[in-house]
Amino acid sequence: MKLYDIVVVGAGPAGMMASIRAGQLGKKVMLIERNDTLGKKLKITGSSRCNITNTASLDMFMERFGKKGSFFRSAFVAFSNRRLISFFESKGLKFREETNGRVFPVSDRSRSVIKVLKEYLSESNIKINYNTRLKRIKKKEGYFSLDLGNDNYMATKKIILATGGISYSSTGSTGDGFNVAEKLGHKITPLKPGLVPLKTGEEWVKDLQGITLEGVGLTFKHGKKKIVSKNGNIIFTHFGISGPLVLDLSNQIIDFLEKNKKIDLLIDLYPQMKNHEMKNKLINEIENRSKTEFKNFMKLFIPNRMISILIDITGINPKKKVNQITKGERNAILTILKAFPLTITGSLPVEKAMVTCGGISRNEINPQTLESKIVNGLYFAGEIIDFCAPSGGYNLQQAFSTGYLAGESAVKSLE
Ligand SMILES: Cc1cc2nc3c(=O)[nH]c(=O)nc-3n(C[C@H](O)[C@H](O)[C@H](O)COP(=O)(O)OP(=O)(O)OC[C@H]3O[C@@H](n4cnc5c(N)ncnc54)[C@H](O)[C@@H]3O)c2cc1C
Repeated sequence: MKLYDIVVVGAGPAGMMASIRAGQLGKKVMLIERNDTLGKKLKITGSSRCNITNTASLDMFMERFGKKGSFFRSAFVAFSNRRLISFFESKGLKFREETNGRVFPVSDRSRSVIKVLKEYLSESNIKINYNTRLKRIKKKEGYFSLDLGNDNYMATKKIILATGGISYSSTGSTGDGFNVAEKLGHKITPLKPGLVPLKTGEEWVKDLQGITLEGVGLTFKHGKKKIVSKNGNIIFTHFGISGPLVLDLSNQIIDFLEKNKKIDLLIDLYPQMKNHEMKNKLINEIENRSKTEFKNFMKLFIPNRMISILIDITGINPKKKVNQITKGERNAILTILKAFPLTITGSLPVEKAMVTCGGISRNEINPQTLESKIVNGLYFAGEIIDFCAPSGGYNLQQAFSTGYLAGESAVKSLE
């Protein structure tokens, strides 16, 4: 049986970059992928526009990966956001920076990112075996034996596992790498959804499905304790809420939801106005439109489809003229505008999450090389490694940076 120097498992961004770097350093690399194509998940990133990285500083990148985000320091230093951009720009791909430092290709197509990766793979003479699924790894004396099913085996001196997480499993990421690593003695931290829509207890949200609220303030609370509060855009769905702000905050909500069955959400529809300013605006508008019916009056403040919900919650007669609204009713309207209440009862499953949080425990990986501390010669790259970041291009940069470092480290250990 032929003995490879390095086999990389998984042709997502992490595995492709690991192969390219090892190939650039002169090693013969075999990349195996269970699909018949490269980067199936990469293709759907950023709504197929691919938010490839962020212009944030190194410190910010590490902060985005949580308390122990400095684990990724060596990887981000080895292959920074700037290096990533010039890596692609040198093959003619141009980028643009959008809000909050998010970087996208000017082409607005993730396919153009994959095209450049293919060019690099071919230049580095990477051999790719498609439709090949790693089932098991056996550590032998001086090499690894890879079981690829149907009595098909491969032998390699070094192996890089870049099989991703367990979300959007139709892209090929079904958690195989976790099973394989666990059998070799690795600990897998609990796999949880990251960047995931949230479910609400109120069934009527389905009547609001499709309504987008821009620039609103969300405050998640458990009892009197504030969990997190931030402004941004949300969208109502048939089961609850989604949208960029919800996805980003979901990582912080999931842990609370595990311990407490439900938590409260208050939506501030006018976060730019203080309570007394909102009250004055409401009083002024009531004076200006005194004969308008309540149900029509509220169109000034909230989307049409939310009005019947507001009527149900406040109990105000929809046909009441606004100059007959009592002080108590006015306060109830104010509460709705500044603290529209919802109950969060859960999230969609990890399958529907954009990333998997949890994975190979970072305590068992050397951050300088990404080599396993349990099995010499085994490396990890990408989402398979524990912890995830909010949206903004951080997760893809992590995949490219860890892929680069794992590829380089595997080569060095052969010399
Ligand atoms: C809808 C969506 C949008 C996203 N948008 C963004 C974005 O805009 N910006 C951002 O930063 N992040 C985004 N992400 C997250 C990002 O896609 C991931 O963090 C990234 O793809 C992880 O890369 P990876 O190489 O580690 O794993 P993956 O991309 O999951 O690749 C793993 C590969 O391994 C293969 N594989 C698995 N098991 C085996 C096996 N046993 N044998 C052989 N091959 C195997 C799989 O088929 C797959 O090709 C998005 C995710 C989703 C789902």
